[in-house]
Amino acid sequence: MANARIGLVGLAVMGANLALNIAEKGFPVAVYNRTTSRVGEFMGEAGELARNIVPCETVETLVASLSKPRAIIIMVQAGAPVDAVIGQLKPLLDAGDMIIDAGNANFHDTIRREATLREDGLSFIGMGVSGGEEGARHGPSIMVGGLAESYAVIRDIVEAISAKYQGEPCAAHLGTDGAGHFVKTVHNGIEYADMQMIAEVYGILRDGQGRSAADIGTLFDQWNEGPLKSYLVEISGKVLGEVDEKTGKPMVDVIVDMAGQKGTGRWTVIEALGLGQSASTIEAAVGARSWSAAKEARIAGQEILGGVSSDGASIPTLTDADLESALLAAKIIAYAQGFALLEAAGQEYGWSLDMGRIAEIWREGCIIRSAMLDDMASAARKGLPYGQLIFAPGFAEKMVGSSDALRRVVAVAALQGLPAPAFSAALAYYDTMRRGRGTTDLIQGQRDFFGAHGFERTDGGSGHHGPWAQGF
Ligand code: NAP
Repeated sequence: MANARIGLVGLAVMGANLALNIAEKGFPVAVYNRTTSRVGEFMGEAGELARNIVPCETVETLVASLSKPRAIIIMVQAGAPVDAVIGQLKPLLDAGDMIIDAGNANFHDTIRREATLREDGLSFIGMGVSGGEEGARHGPSIMVGGLAESYAVIRDIVEAISAKYQGEPCAAHLGTDGAGHFVKTVHNGIEYADMQMIAEVYGILRDGQGRSAADIGTLFDQWNEGPLKSYLVEISGKVLGEVDEKTGKPMVDVIVDMAGQKGTGRWTVIEALGLGQSASTIEAAVGARSWSAAKEARIAGQEILGGVSSDGASIPTLTDADLESALLAAKIIAYAQGFALLEAAGQEYGWSLDMGRIAEIWREGCIIRSAMLDDMASAARKGLPYGQLIFAPGFAEKMVGSSDALRRVVAVAALQGLPAPAFSAALAYYDTMRRGRGTTDLIQGQRDFFGAHGFERTDGGSGHHGPWAQGF
């Protein structure tokens, strides 16, 4: 039987839900999983949709079940497993067939895989999928990289299964080879920063103001009705509102404060540095997760280093409105740094990324979806002045209007001894970008002093040296 329109390998959380989504949209899909018992189990879970699903116990049957040209989605653990699956499929495919990696691949791997498979006459698409389990099942945001003509073959399926914003699919072809996976990586980097900033607000309210989890949850619920409306603020309110059945305590109080990471946040930071950029809010968030892992050392540090010595009475009180405005400003900066990084990478890798389109497909389905993204898309469509979202009309005013609150929040957190690394990074970036004269003149002087590196003079010309050079 060779009538399935598309194949899918990997029936864990994401693959299973994506397969159900594809089947539900009316496309016959053939599925396979390395541990084959999972295939039968999945068919049991599929209910009525099973009629559109072809269960396969081997890769050979999967390939034989597909109409030509064949298209097969791989949704397995990122890294070596993807190469392993490609290795199994490749000998069974014909020229013109296509493999689509829908996992969270490192985009450098995607560039390599695309080039290798193209030499063998096969198409390769790197497809970033965001939205978690729920998104995969009912409509994720989909970021596609590869040849445009390859995407054309599966575009109808991808658009049908994607989230919709006012009827428009949140899926787009963004560039060749690794473009889709790179955009997904930066999406996840922004997600790291956004989550960290929300957690910093939670810390300031919990430890600085002694507020209960339920109270903070209610505040987040209220914020989710205003300019901060976003999936992450919404779920943070829900998480804080839950109670642990076993202990009767707020759920969040029984969760160990150590966070893991799979790599995309780190990759964003590494790539930013490699491109001569600094996505400092994302770096702060990645770093904060790493510090969180040092739980035993932190417990010891509480004893060894103690609390802060500042006089609590002289510390100004933060209002909820201060925190709301500060979170808005800091979030905008996280997105601004993400867009600046996308711009730099687009130039480096020849992708000509369309910032407006990227913001548009992030409006629904993905984890960083937020009410601000529609305005960001409009701003990006008009062109970001100097590549800076925070200079764009609408956003510049928002930043000016909320930066005092951000400043107060960072200052009070510092005085209270509460860590706010992402907020601090956001403020430092804002203050740097609104200052025509910085302090790197002294750094250039230092570099010339010890290394005769030369400097540019304000009155013209480069390669100058200071009087200290005579001593060398
Ligand atoms: P996962 O836990 O990352 O991976 C499990 C799947 O990979 C299973 O189907 C497993 O098969 C298969 N697998 C592992 N090693 C294999 C190998 N050497 N050969 C063949 N198959 C192998 O699953 P997931 O959470 O559904 O994520 C899938 C991909 O989507 C990942 O790249 C992930 O980063 C990305 N992603 C995940 C989310 C999310 O919210 N979970 C969101 C967006 C993107 P067996 O059953 O045989 O072990």
